[in-house]
Amino acid sequence: MFIVLLGPPGAGKGTQAQRIAAATGLLHISTGDMFRENVKSESELGQLAKTFMDKGDLVPDEVTIKMLLERISRAEASAGAMFDGFPRNVVQAAALDLALAGRGARIDHALLISVRDEELISRLGGRWICRNCGRLYHERNDPPKVAGLCDGCGGELYQRDDDRPEVVRTRLEKQKPPADLIAHYRAAGVLKEIDGERGLDDVTAALLKAIEG
Ligand code: AMP
Repeated sequence: MFIVLLGPPGAGKGTQAQRIAAATGLLHISTGDMFRENVKSESELGQLAKTFMDKGDLVPDEVTIKMLLERISRAEASAGAMFDGFPRNVVQAAALDLALAGRGARIDHALLISVRDEELISRLGGRWICRNCGRLYHERNDPPKVAGLCDGCGGELYQRDDDRPEVVRTRLEKQKPPADLIAHYRAAGVLKEIDGERGLDDVTAALLKAIEG
């Protein structure tokens, strides 16, 4: 099964993807995480991606698609995957469709998590990530038991550079799922919209129901 999670920055794609992966065993592929790992290791790809990420811009399609296609060509992705943060536009969606078609597969579900702008802005400011295991927290909606430390592994929590207020505004302007991307999945008959403003558990339950149904 192949699933794409769509939604603006701060809609909860990453948190929900981690929860769905834990509940279903599906492989979670996040292009944002892949870029951040490359930035951390100071690879050539990371240095290039950083110049776009720091401004709140998307990394060019050519680079992103190449990285994603390499990732899904690995054996671990043969049975399925859940994509979080990819595709961001129809060019990326078409590249993914083509790669899946080449192995007799397709996107089974495109789940769009909707959240209003005011709520997104307040969420992005309070987000924390474990430096060690990548688990996501929110100081208001999903806080760690001990401030600054990961419940799971005890790792140190940090805030993303691109969650700064001035960058957040650009990300919201430039990175909402475009109408033609949503139309792409609607036309394929796989789009479901989920209200992302309910509690975390309710959103997870709605997503799982959409997948199982
Ligand atoms: P995210 O963790 O999904 O918010 O992604 C963090 C940053 O990585 C974004 O602001 C973009 O600069 C970049 N990025 C992640 N996924 C993509 C994508 N599919 N296409 C282009 N840029 C991306």
